[in-house]
Amino acid sequence: MNDYLLLTPGPLSTSDTVKKAMLKDWCTWDDEYNQGVVQAIRAKLVALATAHPGYTSVLMQGSGTASVESALGSLIKSSDKLLVINNGAYGERIGEIATYLNINTHIINYTETQLPNVTDIEAVLLNDSDITHIAMVHCETTTGMLNPAEAVGQLAKTYNKVFVLDAMSSFGGIPFDLADWHVDVMISSANKCIQGVPGFGFVICKQHIIAQSEGVSRSLSLDLFAQWHCMEKNNGKWRFTSPTHVVRAFYQALVELEEEGGITERYKRYKENQHILVAGMKKLGFSPLLNTSVHSPIITSFLSPTGQGYDFKTFYNTLKNQGFVIYPGKVSDADCFRIGNIGHVFAADMHRLIDAVASNLYWQDTV
Ligand SMILES: *Cc1c(COP(=O)(O)O)cnc(C)c1O
Repeated sequence: MNDYLLLTPGPLSTSDTVKKAMLKDWCTWDDEYNQGVVQAIRAKLVALATAHPGYTSVLMQGSGTASVESALGSLIKSSDKLLVINNGAYGERIGEIATYLNINTHIINYTETQLPNVTDIEAVLLNDSDITHIAMVHCETTTGMLNPAEAVGQLAKTYNKVFVLDAMSSFGGIPFDLADWHVDVMISSANKCIQGVPGFGFVICKQHIIAQSEGVSRSLSLDLFAQWHCMEKNNGKWRFTSPTHVVRAFYQALVELEEEGGITERYKRYKENQHILVAGMKKLGFSPLLNTSVHSPIITSFLSPTGQGYDFKTFYNTLKNQGFVIYPGKVSDADCFRIGNIGHVFAADMHRLIDAVASNLYWQDTV
């Protein structure tokens, strides 16, 4: 069906069965859809996120960013103050959203290759008692860095702050329990590690937090409380037209995650994919941008070759013709490209990719 494999962290390669699940048209007020698909998804998401009670989930139309904007704009009051921890494009986007929404914000800025430091964060919390919420990205997809979410969650608990985690590119691919990590609000989307197709995002949060957020939202269509309330009261009904085909495909993707053995098994597969990728690329002379210790198994940034004849576009096009689509770099202070390890992608695909790269080192002749 596909003429190339997407090695990009969302949209990503999905299974044929996920794609086939989109072939039926659904009625948005029928129980078969609302109870059978939407409510089932909401329950499955909460079960994937935590073994503890007190959490609920809500789905929201749009790309992942819409869900981040919906959560920030609907759960943070104008009298609150948000601490944003930023070490990449997605952390920066949280700050940007807060600016658009006129949320009072304190931002700790790191470079993209720096790991956020708990001591810095604690110092800010001790200095600024107005802060009510902390927001951070879990896997910073800019580089592939895995941020210290558990440690920041512990700080949030100690200082009694609401912890908002953008786990867009990690949820479903890396095991963690929201309650154990003291995450109050988590955001992710359909087209990342759950391996669905793009079209909506979701928020999993403490039920009491969303239940107390009526009237806070700065936006009509992104009102997370209203969406949650409608789903709760009307058995899974979305407020406005839902992306039915995408939702049904997502249900199928959740079933396939269960069949694979859940998040732990998927995590193993992603780690193996990355291991093969990094070992193979190193053999071919490439260097990963980050140290292994801070690396997620989600996406890997490699420094661009220094050979004079190298340019990303040619490298990209040759690999694409060989059946692999990779990602340009997004790091501002280093010349990189990125290769995703997630999606319906397996060890054999990674070995084939390495063979393709090996046949493609044209710039070495020009060094
Ligand atoms: C993908 C992603 C998002 C959302 O991006 P969209 O393009 O809006 O889907 C947000 N945060 C992180 C960390 C991501 O990886």
